[in-house]
Order: sequence, then structure tokens, then C-alpha cells
Amino acid sequence: MKTTKISFFILSLMLLLMSSLSGWAGNAAAASDSGKTYVIGTDIVFAPFEYEDENGNYVGIDIDLLDAIAKDQNFKYQIKSLGFNAAVQALEANQVDGVIAGMSITDERKAKFDFSEPYYDSGVVMGISANNDTVKSYEDLRGKKVAVKTGTEGYSFAESIASKYGFTIVPFDESYQMYDDVMTGNSVACFEDEPVLRYGVKQNNGLKIVTDKEDGASYGFAVSKGKNQELLEMFNAGLVNIKANGEYKRIIEEYVGENAQVANLGRWELIQKSLPSLLKGLGKTLLYTIVSLFFAFIIGLIFGFMKVGQNKFLRVVATVFVDIFRGIPLIVLAFFIYFGIPQAMGFTMPLFLAAILTLSLNAGAYVTEIIRGGIQSIDRGQMEAARSLGIPYRKAMIKIVIPQAVRVMIPSFINQMVITLKDTSILSVIGLVELTQSGKIVIARTFSSFDIWLTVAVMYLIVIITLTKIADYLEVKIRRG
Ligand code: GLN
Repeated sequence: MKTTKISFFILSLMLLLMSSLSGWAGNAAAASDSGKTYVIGTDIVFAPFEYEDENGNYVGIDIDLLDAIAKDQNFKYQIKSLGFNAAVQALEANQVDGVIAGMSITDERKAKFDFSEPYYDSGVVMGISANNDTVKSYEDLRGKKVAVKTGTEGYSFAESIASKYGFTIVPFDESYQMYDDVMTGNSVACFEDEPVLRYGVKQNNGLKIVTDKEDGASYGFAVSKGKNQELLEMFNAGLVNIKANGEYKRIIEEYVGENAQVANLGRWELIQKSLPSLLKGLGKTLLYTIVSLFFAFIIGLIFGFMKVGQNKFLRVVATVFVDIFRGIPLIVLAFFIYFGIPQAMGFTMPLFLAAILTLSLNAGAYVTEIIRGGIQSIDRGQMEAARSLGIPYRKAMIKIVIPQAVRVMIPSFINQMVITLKDTSILSVIGLVELTQSGKIVIARTFSSFDIWLTVAVMYLIVIITLTKIADYLEVKIRRG
């Protein structure tokens, strides 16, 4: 009776957690009362086109244009900030209905996507550190490294001239990472879209622009070729309307006009301002850790007992499970579950589900081994003695072997808890907003890597040390009890 009550309680807790998690899946939805909700993929940070402002709101030219057009055309949408390369992949895999991400309309892309009318002019420029006076043109790049962002027009441009000017390409996923690479001197230059780098320079990202804009493509809103044509038509019609009624101009002015805001915070002020969003990220890190460990524990119990059991078939199944999920790097597993499986099977995987699956399967494999190791560490003689006294296998296991095994397992469990908590950070690659991702988002806006990464590291340390201390205390109590 008691156990049913407890499991009921745990189940309700899980449902509660899951429902709050699912609420995070999207960022915004325009108000409208009819029709389908279009899922629109975008970059995580590509200011002034999309980024998170000081108050944690997702803003930018793209975001505001889409919102104004959706209101004008009366359609509903949901933003998914995936990162540029991931958003384009998601569109290709039909995981999203459209992409707005400062996406250049190029001939190559036109083969796969249908674009709206262009809504903003762009083109690639070369950026170098503001204190570098030696690099002035592409000729000065010979023998040096150049940072680029994967899947972008800047990348293709760098690739097209790399052998002519003799430089090597260093790829990054996010714009701020390539700026950092230039600032630290690993790369001597980066290639970035002119409006974005100009905005960054104005926000004191430490770089300067040294070349004229390459003839580049303009930005367009994209859908998969031949798909969601009604959405594309609405976008085009809405764009015409907001240009006519002055809304378009107002949005552009707000971000890149004369009076656009320049953030100029002191270091403390910056950390203070960032704390709320970092703390929110930390909360999610903890939640993801707890939920995944819960499932990992269930998985571990099932496979752990299969591994020490008497049935050969079950033993093999459990061994294969551990080999697979312990063997695949977490980041590969995350990509496979979030992008791979849905693409192959033609469905959309919610982000929180992908995250929990990845973490629980990985941690589950380790917990399986902890449980197996714990049980096998108890001398066989004890089981044999119990059986010879006429105690049945199950009872001997529950009363004699398991209580001792649990004590052996506790330190490894604590270890696994710390590892899983840290591993949640890897899921930032699929756009999961937890502590590390929150840090990335703040840095992308403020360009202060040192202060923010230090704050993030300290936050992880405080939580991990506190949890370990609590666990140590409990361990002592259990050993005594
Ligand atoms: N305009 C570039 C492209 O389309 C970069 C876009 C981005 O990084 N968000 O490739």
C-alpha cells in the first residue's frame, strides 16, 4: 500500500515537471484565433537580427518583422532558436515550417528552398581585432587562420578564396565564438555579414571592419521548396504592407538607426544584469538533471538486475544496451535523437524530450554498471550461505545482498549525479536553454566572455559542491543506520 502511494506521488511529480518543461519548448506566439501555428526556426544570436535583450526577451529585426507580418496577415507562429546551421538543417528536414535568420538568398540555397522577396541588404566583410594594424586586405592573411561560422555565406566566401590567399579556416557554430577567436589571437580575422559586424563593433565587441562589403546576397525568409507556399505568400504580402505603413522603417530604426541603444555597462553591472537569466538557466539545469537521473535510475535498475540475473538472454540484452549508450559520445547521441531520428521517421521531436532521452539513456548505462558492480561486489558466499539456510533467492537478494550493495554504490551514484549535472551543458548544442546556453546568449549580446564564463563556472561549482556535501552527509547517515 505504502509503495503504491509513493509511486503515485513520484508519478504526479514527474508529470508536473514534464508539463512545466514542455512550456519552455517555444518562445513566442503571435495572437490569432484561427489556423495553424507555423514553427519558424532562427539563429540563437545574430544581433541585431535575433538576440536576447537585457530583460531576457527575444528581440531583433527578424523577430519584430516576423511579428509585425504575422499580425498583419493574421497567422500564428512559434519561434525556435536553434542556431543558424541547425535551423537550416531543420528546414531541410521539414522540422520547421520556415526560417528567418538573416539568411542570405544564394543560388545554391534556391535549389532547396523558396525565398521571400529580399527584406534586408547584406554582404560579407572581414573583421580583425581593433588593435591589429598589420592586416589590411586578404593578401595579409597568407599562412594565417581565419574564423568562420559554419553553414553561412561568410564560410562559403572564405572557402572560395582560401587557397588563393593561403589561409586556413577555423569553423565555429556561433558568431561570438569567432569574434573571441580573433580577440584571443588564434585567428587573425573573421568573415561576417556587414550589418551584423557593424552592429557588433558599435557594441564594443573589440573588432573592426577592414574591407569593403563583398557583393552579397540579401536576406530572405525561407521555406522548403514547394512547401508552405501560403506562408511565403503571406510573408511577402505582409512585408509590402508593413513597408507601406511605416512599421518596417520603425523596426529598422529601432535597432540600427541613429538612436539605437548601445550597451555600455561596467563589469559588475553587467554580471548583476545577467544574473537573473543565468539563474533561470541554472534552475533548468537542475530540473533536467533531476528528471534525467530519475529515469536513469529506473533504466539502471532494470538493466542492472538483468545483468546479474540468471537469464542469459536478458544478460546479453543489458550488455548490448550498456555498450551502445556508454559508447556513443553524448553530443552525437543528442544530435542523433534530436535531428537524426525525426528526419528518418518524419516527425518532430520536442526539445525537452530529446534532452531527457539523451541524458537518461547515457546516465542509465552508467547506473546499470554501478548497480551491477555493487551487487557483484558482495561476496557470493553470502548468497550461498543464505540459500543453504533455506532462504529463497529473491528474499536473500532483498534482505542480505542489496542492503550491503547499496552502501557500496552510493559514492558512484554521487559521482554520476555530478557528471550528469555537468553533461546537461552539452545539450546546449541542440539549443536547450540551460545554464551554459544562458551564458552563451548573454555573451553573444555583451561580448564579455571572461566575466560571464567565470560567473557560470562559479555557479556550477557552488551547486555541485553543495550537492556533494549533502550527499556525503546522507551517505554517512546511511552507513551508520
Ligand atoms: N547571412 C549569412 C548566411 O545566410 C549568415 C546568417 C547567420 O549566421 N544567421 O549564410
